[in-house]
Amino acid sequence: MTRLKLFLIAFLGVSLLVQAQTDDGVLRMNEFRVPKMRKIIQIPDVGTYQVLKCDFHMHTVFSDGHVWPTVRVQEAWLEGLDVMAITDHVEYAPYKNDVKVNHNRPWELVKDVAKENNLVLIKGTEITRSTPPGHFNAIFIGDASGYIEDNSSPKDKEAVMKAKEQNAFIFWNHPGWKVNQIEGSYEWLDFIDELTKEGTLHGIEVINGFGMHKKALDWCVDHNLTVMGTSDIHNLVRHDYDLSDIVHRSMTLVFAKDRTPEAVREALDAGRTVAWASKFLAGKEEHVRNLFHACVELSPAFHARTSKNSAGAEVVTNYYEIRNNSDLYFELVLKSGNGTGSVTLFPRSAQVITAAGGQDKLTYEVVTAYVRSDKHLQVDISLK
Ligand SMILES: [Zn+2]
Ligand SMILES: [Zn+2]
Repeated sequence: MTRLKLFLIAFLGVSLLVQAQTDDGVLRMNEFRVPKMRKIIQIPDVGTYQVLKCDFHMHTVFSDGHVWPTVRVQEAWLEGLDVMAITDHVEYAPYKNDVKVNHNRPWELVKDVAKENNLVLIKGTEITRSTPPGHFNAIFIGDASGYIEDNSSPKDKEAVMKAKEQNAFIFWNHPGWKVNQIEGSYEWLDFIDELTKEGTLHGIEVINGFGMHKKALDWCVDHNLTVMGTSDIHNLVRHDYDLSDIVHRSMTLVFAKDRTPEAVREALDAGRTVAWASKFLAGKEEHVRNLFHACVELSPAFHARTSKNSAGAEVVTNYYEIRNNSDLYFELVLKSGNGTGSVTLFPRSAQVITAAGGQDKLTYEVVTAYVRSDKHLQVDISLK
C-alpha cells in the first residue's frame, strides 16, 4: 500500500471520528473567531517595583461612552492591562433617557467581573466642569452618587472638594483640550494653583488619548504633581487603536510595590509614574531614566575590528548588541562619544552598535522620551 493511501485512510478515519463526535446538526466555524487570549505587555521590574499597566480614564453608556461597562473589562483583559478605572461623567449624561442615571452602577456591574479576570479595579468618576478649568478625574472614590451635578462655575470648587472629602486621588484632565476657547493656548490657572497649594490636586494628564499636553509635563515637574497618561476611551478601544503587535492604548505605567489597589494608590501619591502612548514616554526624569535602564542592556563587546585611520595609526572598533527587553520603543541619537549615531530599539528586539575603543561610555538622547516639554532623556551607555 502506498504511503498516500495509508495517509488517506488515517485521515478519513480521524475525520469520521471527529464528525461522529461533533455532528449535532450544527456546523461550527470557530476557525474565524478571534482567538481568546490575553496579550502580555512585557516591561521588566524597575528596581523593586513592578511596572503596572494602568488606564484610569474611560467611559461607558452611563455617560457619553458607546459601550456597556463589562466590555471595558473584556478589553482591558485582552490588552494585558493590570489596573483600570471607569470614570463616567458626573454632570454629563447624554443617554439619560435611555440609560437610567446611577453613578454607582458602572462600578457595581464590573466589580466582580474585574476580580474574575485578574484586573485591579479602581472606582472613579469624571468631574466635568466647564472649560476653564475643565475636567478632573477622581479615583479611589467612595459613593459616586453625592457629587455636584450643577456645572456652573461658582460650584467648581465645591464639586472638586466632594472628591477630596472622600480622600480621592484627583487629577486635572486634558488641560490642552479646547485650547482655542482659552485664547489659543492653555495655561496654569489660578484655580489649579489653589488646588495644588492646598494639596487637593495630585496629578495632571500629560497624555490623554492621542495627545501629549507638553506644558502639563513641566507643571507636574515644577509643582510636584503626578504624571498621568490615559486613553479617555469612548468607543471600543479596537475602533480607535490599531491593536496590532506593538500598538497599545495610551496608559500610565505605575511603579508599584505589588499588584493591589493600596500599592497603586501609594505609588500614585509618591508620583512613581510614566505616561506611555504610541512611541512616546513622558515623565519625571528619575522615573523615565530608571525605566529605560530596566528595559535596555548592552552586551559585552562580541567583536573587535582593527583598522588603520587616515594618519596610518591603528584603531579598534568594538561591536556590541544593545537589547530592548520590553514592549516599549526607544529612538536614540548620539550626543557624545565616538560610536553609532542613531539607534532605533523596536519592542523586544536588539541592534548592533559600534564604538571606538578606549572609551568608557556613549551618551545618547532618547528622542522618544520626554522629561520636560523641551527636553528628552539623556542616557549614558557604559562600555566597560
Ligand atoms: Zn474630559
Ligand atoms: Zn473623559
